[in-house]
Amino acid sequence: MTLRTRVLLLGVGLILAANLGLGAVMLAVQRQQVLGEVQLRARTFLDVLGVATVGPMASNRIDALDQQLAALIEQNLDALDIRYVAIVDTDLRVLAHSRQSLYGSTLNDAFAKEAAARDLSVVRTVRDEEGETLLVSLPVQTRVPDEHGIRWGTIIAGFGLDRLTSALFRTLIGSVASILLVTLVAAALAAAVLDGQIVRPLGRLTQAAAGLAEGDLSIRADVIGHDEIARLGNTFNQMADTLERNTRNLEDQVRSRTSELTESNRRLCDVNDRLQHLATTDGLTGLFNFRHFDATLRAELRRSARLSAPLTLLMLDVDHFKDYNDHCGHPAGDDILRRIGEILRARLRATDVPCRYGGEEFAVILLDSGKDAGLEVAEELRQRFEETPFAGEEHQPEGRLTVSIGVATFPMDGESAEELLRASDRALYAAKQAGRNRVVANDPGVQKEG
Ligand code: GH3
Ligand code: MG
Ligand code: MG
Repeated sequence: MTLRTRVLLLGVGLILAANLGLGAVMLAVQRQQVLGEVQLRARTFLDVLGVATVGPMASNRIDALDQQLAALIEQNLDALDIRYVAIVDTDLRVLAHSRQSLYGSTLNDAFAKEAAARDLSVVRTVRDEEGETLLVSLPVQTRVPDEHGIRWGTIIAGFGLDRLTSALFRTLIGSVASILLVTLVAAALAAAVLDGQIVRPLGRLTQAAAGLAEGDLSIRADVIGHDEIARLGNTFNQMADTLERNTRNLEDQVRSRTSELTESNRRLCDVNDRLQHLATTDGLTGLFNFRHFDATLRAELRRSARLSAPLTLLMLDVDHFKDYNDHCGHPAGDDILRRIGEILRARLRATDVPCRYGGEEFAVILLDSGKDAGLEVAEELRQRFEETPFAGEEHQPEGRLTVSIGVATFPMDGESAEELLRASDRALYAAKQAGRNRVVANDPGVQKEG
């Protein structure tokens, strides 16, 4: 149930209850007043009738009594709404009655008995099939000198209260109708005031709060006036200002921290790359170092075994390099080693792995290459070294700088890194023994014997 409905129901309920309560009290008071007036008039009528009946009763003139009664009833019938009037003697025998047929009969209703028994006027209100009736009695005493008729009697009269009741009922209906009308008008006014002053401002505030909750930080409530809701709206707007400011600050901070983090991450990656490079690269030649060679050979052997692919290892050693160093100096020897690195990189495929094995020895892993392909690459490399002019090579025993290469292939020459290295070493040794500047493939027969 909305706030408006609750307030309206409460307001309408209170107004209705108050008005109806007031109406009921006023109605009761009015009824008492009117009833009092009717009683007064009824008793006056009975008093007049009492005076008029004294003579006829005292002289026992029943016909005169009837005439008096009929005349007085005739005069007051409409004004008093007379239902009946009876004059009875002490035995409740009817001496005169507005309904003449009852003459001589005996009244035996409770009111008649009570009225006859008392020497004072009795007033009662009863409800019977005819409607609500005011019953009034008056004792009559006739002490007329020289008259010896009826001495005691009682006048009993019934007055209809229905007209009074229906008049009051009409008043009640009118009151209820005006109460309802007033209540409806008041409710409509209250609804309009409630709408304008509370419901709509609250609705605007709720809408702004919903927008803020959905993330629209620029949203603000429309504030009109200076009442409590306006103060609430101002407080909401201040809160939104603070939230927007803090969020923007936070976003700025996050952005700047993120870019700092990205930058330091990038630097870290660079450092990592450099470290990785340093850890896997030979400083002199730029080729992979022994550590990388060893790890790569083992990993690639596992892969080759899994895929049943061949792998060939070349072991390359500079011939008489000690002599070169001796003649040309160690720095010139370093230059030669660097040139060797360049020649290897220039000839090999991206998937081949050229490494400086140590000193003036180099190893090359040829992936997915069998012995024939390996021998072919090795021979080509040997020729390139032979044909490449190197400064100071004329002092070499053969007059030029050459290399010897031993070739071993997985799996026929060895299945493990150690076996393959031993096989390539043996082949290299054989190349040296055979006079250097040559390529020699490992002899699997020798391996088996070894
Ligand atoms: P062989 O044909 O039998 O291989 O003869 P060799 O002289 O090359 O072989 P040996 O093992 O006797 O000598 C290797 C030489 O390689 C010794 C050393 O001075 C040289 N050497 C090893 N590492 C380096 C290096 O980093 N720089 C230079 N300049 N020379 C090196
Ligand atoms: Mg050597
Ligand atoms: Mg050598």
